[in-house]
Order: sequence, then C-alpha cells, then structure tokens
Amino acid sequence: MKQEQWCVRVPVKEGEPMRRQLISDGVLDTSLKPARDGAFLLFPVTEPTRATERWECEAHAKAIPLPRHDLVGGIAIMQDDDVHEAEMLLASRPSIHTVLFAETPVSGEYRTRGFRVLAGEPVTATECTEYGMRLRIDLEAAYFSARLANERQRIVSLMEEGERVCDMFAGVGPFAIALAEKAGIVIAGDINPGAVLLMEQNIRLNRRKNIIPMLADARHLAEYLATGSFDRIIMNLPMSPVPFFGTAVRLVRPGGTIHLYAMQEREGEYREMIEAYPCTIRGEYQVRSYSPTQHHAVYDITRTNGSE
Ligand code: SAM
Repeated sequence: MKQEQWCVRVPVKEGEPMRRQLISDGVLDTSLKPARDGAFLLFPVTEPTRATERWECEAHAKAIPLPRHDLVGGIAIMQDDDVHEAEMLLASRPSIHTVLFAETPVSGEYRTRGFRVLAGEPVTATECTEYGMRLRIDLEAAYFSARLANERQRIVSLMEEGERVCDMFAGVGPFAIALAEKAGIVIAGDINPGAVLLMEQNIRLNRRKNIIPMLADARHLAEYLATGSFDRIIMNLPMSPVPFFGTAVRLVRPGGTIHLYAMQEREGEYREMIEAYPCTIRGEYQVRSYSPTQHHAVYDITRTNGSE
C-alpha cells in the first residue's frame, strides 16, 4: 500500500550517508520504504525539517507478532494450545521443526513434562547447542532447560584444572559435559534411564573421555563412591535438595565446593539447613526467576574440616 509523506531527495550515490544522517536526527519514517525516482532516492521523514517534498512511498509489511514460546533446539514450546498460531510459528523460522504444547507442568521423580504436538514433525527429540556443546535431548523422556547455560559457564570459570567432580542429578549431561572441559574426572549420575541413555550419546557427541555416566539413585552414592574425595559437587534438584545434602557433604573433601540449587521464595531459605553441617556459605545467587513467587537460587558452599 502506498502512502504520501514528506521526503528528502538525494542522488542514489549519496543515499547511504543521508539514510544514516536521518536516523541520527531521529526523523527517518521507518514505517515506509524509500522510493526511487530515476537517479534519485526519496527518504520518507516524519517532519519537513529540511528541503522536503511530498511523495508516495510503499509501506513496510507489518511484522505479525509471534505467539509466546520457549525455543529448545528445533522445538518451540507454546504456552497456548492454539494450532493456528503454532503453524504460524513453524513457518516463521526454518530451524523450527516442531511446535509443542506442554500439557503438564514439570513433575515426578524424573522432572519431565507431557507434550502434545501442535505443528510440524511429531517428535519431542531435538538437538541444541550451548557454548559449543552439542546436546541431544528428548523433552518427554528427560529434563532439560536451556536457561541454565550461563550458570554452567559460571561454574566452569570457578574451576581449577584436573578437579574431581560429581554431578548427582546429571540429566542428559549438560553440567557434566561443560565441566569435563576442565575436570580430571566427572562422575555423572541420574535415576532416569532415559536421561542416562541420552547422556551417553551426548558424551560421545562431544568427544569427552573423562565422564563416567551412572544410572544411580543419588541417595546411595556415598555407598559406592569414595567419600571425601571430590573437589566439587553439583546438586541440581532444586525442588527437593534437602534429603540429598548429607550425601553431598560426605562425598566432598574438606575445602571442596558444593553448588546446591534450590527453588525458594525468600533469600536465605536454606541457610539454616546448610549451616547445620560442617559447611560455610560463600555466596547465594539468583539463577533465574521461576514463578511470580519463586526463584531458582544457587548456594556456593565450602565444606569445612569439622565432622558431620
Ligand atoms: N542437571 C540436569 C540439567 O541441568 O539439565 C538435570 C536436572 S533435573 C532438574 C533433575 C534430575 O535429577 C532429573 O534428570 C531426574 O531424573 C534426576 N533425579 C531425581 N531424583 C533423583 C535421585 N534420587 N537420584 C538421581 N537422580 C535423580
């Protein structure tokens, strides 16, 4: 559709400097496309501040707002159960192969969700990349959240070369694989066989040679792993970390670090529980907000020399 507007006329070869000038003056009318008249360009402007003339310009096609969604690899997860909007989302980017609607919240011991396919390929599996790491995931089979990507890098930045690490709730392996870059060895356990299967694939995909994946209940880790032998423990089971904290304290060496993730409503909610053990809290940070009342926090904890 064409629309008449004030326009600045310039020879084509002076087009780019003029465009920049009009942007910096804040007067370029971005709702309309520049017009061409022989050897001249006509830039639409919002006010007739310099030598201007009236000219008809083509309007830019209005960007249609996309429905709200989370993107994990090639899968878009929509918050609304709307097939029409899902088709629109699918068409918006060639990298999206499937649009899902989450039918259930994250739940159960495996922390998974139920999905329904709204558009595209009928799958819940995809591959995503995070800071150069490739991860095969299956959203229905095992937990994965791309929102912890920066947090994983924060932990890598705290590490010394050659550390012995234990990831007690490893899922498909994002922490274990990221930390293995610096670690000497990473023991990575999960109770969900589907998660451990994907973790094994991801270890191969990223050519890591220093991760031992384990199908294991974290409650029993201190029965088969050497206690007091780990430099760093990752505890990412934020909905219920308390029953497992004693095991983490037994596994870590005095002076070693535990990163305890917890869903909390107020700052310091877990301090008392942590300080009942021979532990010092070095820091407490908000990783991301989870709901209007809860946030995903991490406590960086040092094991002291005292006995349990
Ligand atoms: N660390 C992974 C990540 O960041 O993607 C996964 C975290 S997810 C919130 C928690 C994981 O703990 C799930 O994969 C679940 O299967 C596992 N899990 C739950 N209870 C467990 C237990 N008792 N022992 C070992 N793993 C457990």
